[in-house]
Amino acid sequence: MLTSLRDTGRSLWKRVFVRATLFSVGGILVFSFVVIGIKYHIQISETEARLEHDARQKAQFVANISAREIENKNYGEMERLLNAVAGDRSVIAAKAFSRFGQEFASDFASAKPVSETLFSETALNAAQEGQDYTIETSGTIEYVLPVFRNGTAVGSVLVRMSKDEMADIFQEALWQAALTVAVLFLAFLPVIAWLMYRATAGISEVTEAANGAAEGFLDCDLKTEAPGEVGELQSAFLEMMRKLRSNIVDIERLAYTDRITGLPNRAQLDKLAAKMIDQKPGATGSVLYIGFDRFKLINDMHGHHTGDALLRELAERLVRLVDKATHQHTVSVSAVARFAGDEFVCILPGITDPALLEDISATILTLLSKPVRIGSLSLSVDASAGVMTYPDQGGTAEEVMKNANLAMYQAKAIQRGKAVAYSESLREQLNERETIAERLRLAVEHGTLDVFYQPKVNPSNGEIVGSEALLRWRDEVLGQVRPDKFIPIAEERGLIAPIGEFVLKKALEDTKRLHLENMQVSVAVNVSPAQLQDPNFSDHTLRIIGESGLAPDKLELEITESSVMEYSGRVIEQILPIRSEGVNFAIDDFGTGYSCLSSLANMPFDTLKIDRSFIMDITNCEDRRTIVELILMMANQLNLNTVAEGIETPLQKDYLKLWGGTLGQGYLWSPAVSFPEYSAMVRAQNGVDYEASNIAVLH
Ligand code: C2E
Ligand code: MG
Ligand code: MG
Repeated sequence: MLTSLRDTGRSLWKRVFVRATLFSVGGILVFSFVVIGIKYHIQISETEARLEHDARQKAQFVANISAREIENKNYGEMERLLNAVAGDRSVIAAKAFSRFGQEFASDFASAKPVSETLFSETALNAAQEGQDYTIETSGTIEYVLPVFRNGTAVGSVLVRMSKDEMADIFQEALWQAALTVAVLFLAFLPVIAWLMYRATAGISEVTEAANGAAEGFLDCDLKTEAPGEVGELQSAFLEMMRKLRSNIVDIERLAYTDRITGLPNRAQLDKLAAKMIDQKPGATGSVLYIGFDRFKLINDMHGHHTGDALLRELAERLVRLVDKATHQHTVSVSAVARFAGDEFVCILPGITDPALLEDISATILTLLSKPVRIGSLSLSVDASAGVMTYPDQGGTAEEVMKNANLAMYQAKAIQRGKAVAYSESLREQLNERETIAERLRLAVEHGTLDVFYQPKVNPSNGEIVGSEALLRWRDEVLGQVRPDKFIPIAEERGLIAPIGEFVLKKALEDTKRLHLENMQVSVAVNVSPAQLQDPNFSDHTLRIIGESGLAPDKLELEITESSVMEYSGRVIEQILPIRSEGVNFAIDDFGTGYSCLSSLANMPFDTLKIDRSFIMDITNCEDRRTIVELILMMANQLNLNTVAEGIETPLQKDYLKLWGGTLGQGYLWSPAVSFPEYSAMVRAQNGVDYEASNIAVLH
């Protein structure tokens, strides 16, 4: 504390001293100049007045005694007189003029050749007007005086004085000023030299460091030993550079590090990939592109805070697993980065063996899916992965990432929780998807999609109580394309909204037509999870239903169990307003989505549609029979209607009847058929036993 006070005092004193000295020297200099200036001014004014006075006196003298000589043009006498006047050191010319301004006599020194006729306008004016004239130039003062005889002007005389005396005074003043500066300079030379040294020593180092910083070299090792304020400037500059460097390090860390997991982020991954793949000729290795399955569910169910904590744990685990799985196979260091959301990328240089990669990815995925403890929760998520080797499957980092990402999406699409290696056939499948997407876009634009109807039947009497509207697409190039092939593509490419709207409108319109014929059948329309992501879905759907004029309770919307589970929050938000208008909701493909049965009771659904994969085996598999029986019992307990999908045989139908299933749907009664065929069936049943009368349409 005391030392710092002393330092501050010393530095203050130094500053005051330096400035006081500089100001004193400057002050003395200015004062001296002012004194010299005043003195010069006085001397000049006095001399000027004296010269003028002398000129006037001399001219007066000549004028007084020369009147007769001028009138009589007595040159000799006149010249003698003028020479006498011009004998004075400061007079440089003395002249006499006739009353017409013509010079007729002059002192010898300033006399012009006799042949020259000299005329002076001033002399003429002086004689004619009887007035004195004083003419001043830079080097002379002239005095012109009229000469009178008997009250009449007979001519004029001129006396010209030199101002050399004034120039001498100026020179003298200049000398005095120079002398003052010299004396002051000599007197203060040591102090000034010392001050100059203090003021400039070390400046060049700061300049050099600043130039280096401007070029991007922030690691300057500037010494801060210069004396005085420059030393302080050096310290301040060094401190500024330190802060700048640390800020840049912070900015870089934030820009290239993922905030949640602390792993390199996507920007950093790009740099790493470029370094490890693009800028390393001959580099071999692989990329593991990992995506967690249904991570959104965790966020929706437990909140983003828990989701982030889980992601952090999983990221740490992934880094450990990658390290452990690879270090014995390669000496190169692998890189793990968070690509986006729940997607991570691992670059494994030096590992290209397909069997080894399969082994590594399987181990990593299995161990990643083990439960993680977050507070009181024990959470687990499966992960899928795409595996890609370089350079054989992709030459550039960009291509490698893209292909690994495609393989990961393929894994998610076909076998979640597993790894899929990138291959040419995968590329072909993707190309096929591209073609489908392209053709589908055209089909949507040209309205060439169609809706078929599959009857839903009461198993106890075979009565058609409604239908499920199912999309059909026959393309000119691709032929008949199955919905489970093109619907995921439509979802991915943002085409599902117009398609869903088309199916809903058509189903409502066709069913309304049957109602107008007094056949009160219902209709079920599938809703894709992607449609539910649109915040306007409820309003939009209610508007379409309203416009159709069909009673809302004759419509059922089917949502697959997996999407209910995956997006439960959003799904329920979208369902409630529509359901409150009387529309029914069904859980489609029940049994495939691993839903928690107890949570079903709280969900706003009216119908359970048991997936075909369960019905398929009830006739030959005891366990399946038990499961379906239990599902039906549970649905009854929860007051839910049931539809058993894929009833193909009478035996399956009989089981359904026995266990009290509400409705059945399947090839036993009919596949999905065009509206004319479907309406024919409905009309035909018209009180007649459908089973008996429509054997022809059975497949
Ligand atoms: P889903 O909603 O579960 O529809 C039932 C599927 O099972 C239909 O296949 C139907 O033809 C088939 N099916 C019905 N009975 C039997 C049977 O006895 N045996 C066999 N083997 N299959 C039977 P489809 O029409 O190929 O549709 C497949 C899936 O595509 C549908 O499954 C649904 O998830 C989706 N889908 C169809 N149309 C639409 C639509 O308009 N919108 C949306 N979002 N998805 C649709
Ligand atoms: Mg369905
Ligand atoms: Mg289904």
